[in-house]
Amino acid sequence: MANAKLTAASEVQFLKGVGPARAELLASRGIRTVEDLLYYTPFRYEDRTRLTRIRDLVPGQTTTVFAKVLTCGLMRTRRGMYIYDLAASDSSGMLRCKWFNGAYLEKNQVFHTGQQVFLYGKVDRDRYGTGTMEIIQPQFEILPEEETEGGDSLELGRVVPIYESIGSLGPRVLRRLMAAAIQGLDGQIPDRLPPTVVRKNGLLDRAAAVIQTHFPAGEQDMEKLCGFRTPAQVRLIFEEFFSVGAGLALKRRKAKAIEGVEFRVKESARQSIRKILPFHPTSAQKRVLKEIVDDMCSVRPMNRLLQGDVGSGKTIVAIQAAILAIENGYQVALMAPTEILAAQHYLYIKQLFHPLNYRVELLVSARKAAEKAEIKRDISAGAIHLAIGTHALLEEDVRFARLGLIVVDEQHRFGVLQRLGLMRKGYHPDVLVMTATPIPRTLALTLYGDLDFSVIDELPPHRTPIVTKLMEEHDRESAYTFLREKVRRGEQVYVVCPVIEEGGKLDLKPAVRMYEQLAHVVFPEYRVGLLHGRLASDEKEAVMQQFKRGELQILVATTVVEVGVDVPNATIMLIEHADRFGLSQLHQLRGRIGRGSKKSYCLLMADEKRSEISQERLNTMVATTDGFRIAEIDLKLRGPGEFFGTRQWGVPAFRIANLLRDQEILEWAKQEAAEFIANPGSPEELDTFVKYLRTEWPRRYGLASVA
Ligand code: ADP
Ligand code: MG
Repeated sequence: MANAKLTAASEVQFLKGVGPARAELLASRGIRTVEDLLYYTPFRYEDRTRLTRIRDLVPGQTTTVFAKVLTCGLMRTRRGMYIYDLAASDSSGMLRCKWFNGAYLEKNQVFHTGQQVFLYGKVDRDRYGTGTMEIIQPQFEILPEEETEGGDSLELGRVVPIYESIGSLGPRVLRRLMAAAIQGLDGQIPDRLPPTVVRKNGLLDRAAAVIQTHFPAGEQDMEKLCGFRTPAQVRLIFEEFFSVGAGLALKRRKAKAIEGVEFRVKESARQSIRKILPFHPTSAQKRVLKEIVDDMCSVRPMNRLLQGDVGSGKTIVAIQAAILAIENGYQVALMAPTEILAAQHYLYIKQLFHPLNYRVELLVSARKAAEKAEIKRDISAGAIHLAIGTHALLEEDVRFARLGLIVVDEQHRFGVLQRLGLMRKGYHPDVLVMTATPIPRTLALTLYGDLDFSVIDELPPHRTPIVTKLMEEHDRESAYTFLREKVRRGEQVYVVCPVIEEGGKLDLKPAVRMYEQLAHVVFPEYRVGLLHGRLASDEKEAVMQQFKRGELQILVATTVVEVGVDVPNATIMLIEHADRFGLSQLHQLRGRIGRGSKKSYCLLMADEKRSEISQERLNTMVATTDGFRIAEIDLKLRGPGEFFGTRQWGVPAFRIANLLRDQEILEWAKQEAAEFIANPGSPEELDTFVKYLRTEWPRRYGLASVA
């Protein structure tokens, strides 16, 4: 009887077949309500209306076979590998299946003779030329004995949804839960999209879309279905993008309604810039500066993301914007993600600003309490023109007298919330966010839909492309010979080691060991330095300065050198255990070299045993230095969910939409959302939808509130 009252908002445990254990498993994936469950959509479908007979299998084809297990068991190869081998047949012939490292199949007694199984995968002829077809590592589903063909089976004679398992909940169980949920709701799945939007865009209604996405009925175009382009799937994808798009449009509207500082381009600013500019800006730098200045001169607060690959010269653009603000009588805050970088910016800018009478100060936690107190006092008195720091600049007790511009460097290290923290302090300064992480356009549109964009798509002149080489342990001697030769000619070297996490503790041993080895055994004739995150910040700074001045020839470092560090004379980077780093991280690291006019080399030392994904990352590094291409590939290899490591970076956790696959739907929905917010069917319609977003947005997309 409980099912009679089932609603979309009911908790999953009220569903038939869900006990406490399953409810907990589901909750681990954020599935708490029946509606959540229904948004756990299939990742592919199998057409079991037309099963391929074994005799008709074609090599290279990816297909589903329905067969009976003949024999199965674990085999040991001559090289000591365990392979699980299974032979199955239908009335037309026999098929072999193999699972490498398949000991778990034996241990769990998954298969036995006589079982009926669905086997899905890519068909090939076996390697022995016997003509037998085989599938390596097929996905499989075992049909329980009592189930027979025909009837209204969920697994046979129809197009069947395949779900990603959730712990022990496999596709079969999930299929049953979905069927129970749909039956229990009996069509009561309320539509949340504004009716005018549904009508205007010719969208399917929500209940029908949910049902058909799980259980496509009748004849299906499998290509469309597996490409998520049926009207039902499109409707659900649209809905997600529309909601996020509407949320961003509301945020943006709110931001635009605020009156900010209206800067003016002054002759004094022009002169100051001319006095300090160390080189001719590239045309890309000029273009983005104009975009920024136009924004600053408007009364609306600027919210702009400045994107540019590592080494593209974002800093000088930000510095010019800072001069404009200062010449208008305002203060500027510059925030970096680490103290090293803040200190580096400080030293660089202080020197650059020498001809100007600006007061620049560094506010980092490492400074003495008395010094900090003084700096804070002077900031609030308006005596400091440019304050540089880390998140310390966001602390409660830092109050600016006239904050006009905030520059956030290397934004990917900052949480979105921190960014908001500053805004909430009651200032409406212009904000310029700089990032060296090239964000693929799709992600950028959703992630930073409330920001405007500037892109520096050109590197400063006279850069020679970096040569990247993949090496293994047996190449080590020749790598060292190469380093020695370069150092002899006065060039400098980074050696990067991973920090290994062990039992929650960070293990710096690889870096320390490497340092000792290089300093005492391999290169005793040179000066070698060591830089890692455990050093106090003045120690780090001292090491960096020594390296910068050329007093150290070789710097062994952990990934603390990843961002921002600028030593143009360093032309070689040797990355140890390169297979353990993420692609974006490798790209960031490599960005430390190739900053001068001399040819630079990046040597990727990889373990011989490495995964396929590692190999693909390394290949990508060897093949290209284009940050945007690397970011796209990284996104593909990792999936959007993991792209930024965690959800806290603000990537919405889409349930059915996929940022890689659904770009056009994203653009369409985003446009419709903006249109709807500006021009709703009626005020009530807007009101209803905004109310829905306010409750649903934070819960579902894990994002900060809408407005
Ligand atoms: P990023 O975008 O990675 O922050 P930087 O601002 O640190 O890049 O600039 C990288 C290097 O290029 C610096 O050494 C900088 O002085 C130099 N640079 C920047 N713009 C130009 C330019 N227009 N001409 C020559 N060198 C430039
Ligand atoms: Mg930089």
